[in-house]
Amino acid sequence: DETLSALPQTGEREVETTLRPRKLAEFVGQPRVREQLELVLESARRRGVPPDHVLLSGPPGLGKTSLAMIIAEELDASIRITSGPALERAGDLAAMLSNLAEGDVLFIDEIHRIARPAEEMLYLAMEDFRVDVVVGKGPGATSIPLEIAPFTLVGATTRSGALTGPLRDRFGFTGQMEFYGDDELDLVVTRAATILGIAIDPEGSAEIARRSRGTPRIANRLLRRVRDYAEVRADGRITLEVTRAALEVYDVDELGLDRLDRAVLSALVNSFGGGPVGVSTLAVAVGEEPTTVEEVCEPYLVRAGMLARTPRGRVATATAWEHLGLRPPADYGR
Ligand code: ADP
Repeated sequence: DETLSALPQTGEREVETTLRPRKLAEFVGQPRVREQLELVLESARRRGVPPDHVLLSGPPGLGKTSLAMIIAEELDASIRITSGPALERAGDLAAMLSNLAEGDVLFIDEIHRIARPAEEMLYLAMEDFRVDVVVGKGPGATSIPLEIAPFTLVGATTRSGALTGPLRDRFGFTGQMEFYGDDELDLVVTRAATILGIAIDPEGSAEIARRSRGTPRIANRLLRRVRDYAEVRADGRITLEVTRAALEVYDVDELGLDRLDRAVLSALVNSFGGGPVGVSTLAVAVGEEPTTVEEVCEPYLVRAGMLARTPRGRVATATAWEHLGLRPPADYGR
């Protein structure tokens, strides 16, 4: 069952690799992060040292992994890729760190999910390029300091708030990724269409861009689904009409909300009178993990002005009621 969410799906990895921008100049959008990063990289290059550690934060599919790879590419360095959940034991991280060559980039995706012992090992590695490897158990255990090559850590997180203070403090630069504008996503779609050899009208790419929830990964995914429709039900060309018909089939609404987004809004409005309700209760109501609701759905619903996060829980805005074709109670939100 294919959903059109922002999470990567199996079998899509190769397409994502083809579509990934390789250079900073090819990377569409995020002007602020791009400029800041350019300065960090250029200055390090001039001084001939590896740049400070970089934290990239923002919702899934906005280009954090792509940027990490670009950083390595721009530095002419190799990149090693791992993720917080994969670093369950400190030993896993120690092995990774001791294999780094000077100037390498180590990318840790979902770094907020790293296990505590690995996190503590990371502090020393980031600060002093050193790890303490503990040999043996119990009172006889000794810790052997091990030097590692100076490297640059790039961490990515969908929840920078979930990072511990000490970890956050060790990053010299944090890039806050924002949702993309429609014009930027139009460029993403047109670029991908060219690479994949898809014929597309400007009205078609504009419509796909507009309905992509501000997210390049979704834009690329919708492009491929509309392409399928164009090939099977039309003459292969993506027009405005083809785009609208295809997105109807895939349950992507006028605003680009998918089934899960609408399920969240609908539960909030229909089962909880518009809230406030806690995120775990809301997640149970739609049969999803709280983290998925929190990290995948909510950021865009908030930005679209449909949902508010309050200290007492999630609240649907009047706009959300209207989007579902309902009228909020007269005294709603007062
Ligand atoms: P994240 O790591 O934030 O989840 P990714 O870097 O994996 O996001 O990006 C997902 C896909 O979206 C990439 O494969 C790439 O094709 C596309 N993409 C992301 N950002 C951009 C961009 N700025 N320009 C062009 N394509 C992009």
